[in-house]
Amino acid sequence: MVNAVIVGGGLSGLFAARVLLKKGLSVTLVEQSEKLGGLMRSDVGPGGRFYDKGTHFVLDTGVNAVDEILLEGMDISDWICIEDNLKEGSFFNGVLNTESGCPDIRTASPTIRTAAAYELISNLGKSCSEPSSLKEYLLNTFGPCLLENFFTPNIRKLLGCAPETLAPDAHRALGLSRVILFDSIPAKVLKSLDALSEVLAYGHRNDHQSSIRKFYPKMGGVGRWIVNCEEMLRRGNANIAAGCTVASIEFGDGRISSVRLSDGQRIECDHLVWSTAPIGLLKLMGLSTSNSTRPEFRDLALHHIVMDQPPSTDLHYSYCFDPSMQSYRTTFYTSICPPGVFEGGHHFTVEQITAHDEPVLNSNSIAVFQEHKDMGLIRPDAKIIDSELEMWPRALPVATPQLGTVLRKQTNLVKASATNVSMIGRASDGSHFQQGILTSTFDALAHI
Ligand SMILES: Cc1cc2nc3c(=O)[nH]c(=O)nc-3n(C[C@H](O)[C@H](O)[C@H](O)COP(=O)(O)OP(=O)(O)OC[C@H]3O[C@@H](n4cnc5c(N)ncnc54)[C@H](O)[C@@H]3O)c2cc1C
Repeated sequence: MVNAVIVGGGLSGLFAARVLLKKGLSVTLVEQSEKLGGLMRSDVGPGGRFYDKGTHFVLDTGVNAVDEILLEGMDISDWICIEDNLKEGSFFNGVLNTESGCPDIRTASPTIRTAAAYELISNLGKSCSEPSSLKEYLLNTFGPCLLENFFTPNIRKLLGCAPETLAPDAHRALGLSRVILFDSIPAKVLKSLDALSEVLAYGHRNDHQSSIRKFYPKMGGVGRWIVNCEEMLRRGNANIAAGCTVASIEFGDGRISSVRLSDGQRIECDHLVWSTAPIGLLKLMGLSTSNSTRPEFRDLALHHIVMDQPPSTDLHYSYCFDPSMQSYRTTFYTSICPPGVFEGGHHFTVEQITAHDEPVLNSNSIAVFQEHKDMGLIRPDAKIIDSELEMWPRALPVATPQLGTVLRKQTNLVKASATNVSMIGRASDGSHFQQGILTSTFDALAHI
């Protein structure tokens, strides 16, 4: 039998394990943490409820072969399936927009709004095929007015640095790709131009119908998918080595032939699938890692809160684009699940992106709760029943141009040195969102 070793038990590693089991390989999955799931985990928090860590929904990809594996073994009656657009909101310039999760520049002063619209349209046709930084990309695309009044303060809030120090696509993972500048009808017309479709948002979420299905379990948080996945892997006799790392490898003649795990297991390896940072594998292979740029990371503070009354809106999510507020994204679980699923309080998670090792005291759930009252997302007399602050260190690498170059070089060096390795996942293949990660993992394993 052909042996595959998969390192990293997040979404990409777990999905890879399922794909390779289906292809009839013998699979070992190595995960350093005791729990599988990476950024797609859910754990029990305040009030005995489940709270998610990063990703919130299981999304289908529209690629049949991927979706079959993604949804296999899920008892659909235990899941809510949302076929409409998610109800996303956004807060900017003191205004809560309950019609779209994109930043609504229409709330800015007429001077800024007019200048931003003029600059965006004037930039049409001024292409810069390879901007060297995020600042250059934003200037060439949106112009100086939005760069100064919207992007720079929000990027500083989330990533702690200026756009000139970041890679040209660093804003995409933060939901900052598109802005609302026009009402529904002009936005629809302008979005039909290729150059504007990726940067201009619809005036209202219902101006466009999503074809993607979003699944959320009635109980257990999105991590239920991980639990299901683990069950499927065990049923397929996969060897799941949780709480383990790869201690050493046998590498020669352009192949990795075995791995030894930190718990002492030695595993024959016909194919290695690596879903974490390539530097770790290069070290095991004994290949030069000089000139490596050490990435900067941002921590994630997750405020899990139960309150005594429902939120003021029926939004599933809301983004806060106010640079003076700590909150980034809020997920209201009681808006996602039908009434009656949760009793005795309404719970939500607020994500806050902070500097690495910033004192936890700076992340204060009471201040964050007050921000939600100020944004109009919860009622002025709402009270916290229970709360918990969970810190997730080094959750988000700061995407600098140097980091992108180093990761590409490292990934290419691994691929050029060993013929039986596939590199997948957010740490090495440049994808960030679930659908990109799933489809690129599937493609990376197509030849096996
Ligand atoms: C704050 C935040 C919010 C997000 N929200 C969304 C969202 O709403 N929608 C969306 O589509 N995407 C979201 N993402 C993107 C998310 O990163 C991906 O969807 C996906 O979960 C990443 O999966 P992965 O397997 O590539 O990485 P990870 O989830 O990071 O998994 C990597 C795994 O490898 C393990 N590991 C690391 N090093 C080793 C080692 N040496 N040996 C063994 N194991 C190791 C880790 O413990 C981890 O379990 C979010 C990301 C962040 C940071």
